[in-house]
Parts: sequence; C-alpha cells; structure tokens
Amino acid sequence: MTTLSSLRVVVWGENVHEHRNAKVGALYPEGMHATIAAGIRELLPQAEVSVATLQEPEHGLTEERLARTDVLTWWGHLAHGEVADVVVERVRRRVLEGMGLIVLHSGHYSKIFQRLLGTACSLTWREAGEKERLWVCHPGHPIAAGIDRCFELPQEEMYGEPFAIPAPEEQVFISWFEGGEVFRSGCTWRRGNGKIFYFRPGHETYPTYHDKNVRRVIANAVAWARPQGVWRDSCPNITTPLEPIRPKV
Ligand code: ZN
Repeated sequence: MTTLSSLRVVVWGENVHEHRNAKVGALYPEGMHATIAAGIRELLPQAEVSVATLQEPEHGLTEERLARTDVLTWWGHLAHGEVADVVVERVRRRVLEGMGLIVLHSGHYSKIFQRLLGTACSLTWREAGEKERLWVCHPGHPIAAGIDRCFELPQEEMYGEPFAIPAPEEQVFISWFEGGEVFRSGCTWRRGNGKIFYFRPGHETYPTYHDKNVRRVIANAVAWARPQGVWRDSCPNITTPLEPIRPKV
C-alpha cells in the first residue's frame, strides 16, 4: 500500500475559465489547479504534489507520468470535448490498475468520469449564488475526518437531483441548497483496483477552493484514494492446472 510519505499526486486543471473570465482570474490568479494543489500540499505535507493542464502536450498526462501517479484530481468544464480519447483511455487503465481518481464539480461531465461510471452523469443546475450546506452522511468515513456535522458555502452554483450516476458504494456527503434542492455531493465507487471519489463544490466564479473545509475534504479524499496495490490487466490461459484433472469416463 502506498504510504502518505510516498504519495504522488497530480492535480489536473482545464485552465480555460481563468484566462477568459476576469472574476475567475482574480480568484485564482495562478489557476484553479494551483489553488487545489496548494490545499493538498498544506494538509498532506509529505505528499509530492504537481499540476498538469489541458494545454500541455498529451494534457500533461503521458504514459510515464501516469505510471508515477498514485492519485489524480480532475477539474474540467468548458473543454471536456478537447480531452484526447487516447489520454482518457490511459487514465481509465491506470484507475483499473489502482490509481485513485478525485473528480471535482463540473468534472461530472468529463469523458473519464462518464467512461468509468458508464452512465450519463447528468444533473439539474442553477447559477444563482445561493448557499450550499453539505451534510456528513458517513461520519466514520476517512474522507469526512475533521469535518463537523455539516458545513456551509455562502455562495455556490446549485446541482440537484436526479444525478444520473450508478448507486454510490458510499455516500459521504449530501448537499442542501437555499433554493430547496438536494444533491448527492460526495460519493465513492471502485473500478477494478482503483478508488473514485466525486466531490460537488467548486464552481469557478466562487472562492470555493480557498475554503478550509473543502480543502480538508479534498486532502482526505486524496489520502483515502491512494493505491492499495496494483492489478495489471491480463487474461491468461492456464493450461497447466495445480492439481491433476482425472479424465472423466
Ligand atoms: Zn459550475
């Protein structure tokens, strides 16, 4: 099992809104990915945390780099369609082998999340700067460690049910919004040997990734999702059995 002191984390950012919208640029002058990475570094100082963006060759996710990555975090929105299928497939294979994947906010529509979960991953939404209250549904879960009964974000985009996901294996958070909707905002799944966590907050025009509770949840999720071992995919034909098989008459 990967220990916290040997944990290698890559924070992936689409890095588009930051350059198109002055409000987003002011909240995240070095990019949302830089702020997310800083939160992980602050709370998991032993981990090696680096960033990668859409604009880099192979989106910064080469075969070699992914082979050295224990946990990948993913924020995307405007440019899901620009993520190369070959890179998505590479990430999918690494998750099946054991790499952890943390999908944030609008990443619900990313190719990698849809491909791993196999459903539409659609939801209802509204951008009205309303309050979000996140309730802990699973207080003993390591992803909720250090979080009170609930916490609030004063302004967020609303995501509501129905959320077209397969039934989560664990429900860690559920959100309530000022306008009345609720949403399964913190969910886990396993695919192959890899752990996946979806965490809802993080609309680009709000300072969500500066919030101490959001940073705590993301760091907890990164630590939780670290590989428990590696499972290389193969389908061998075992022609020599361990025990002799008697011919049947
Ligand atoms: Zn959003």
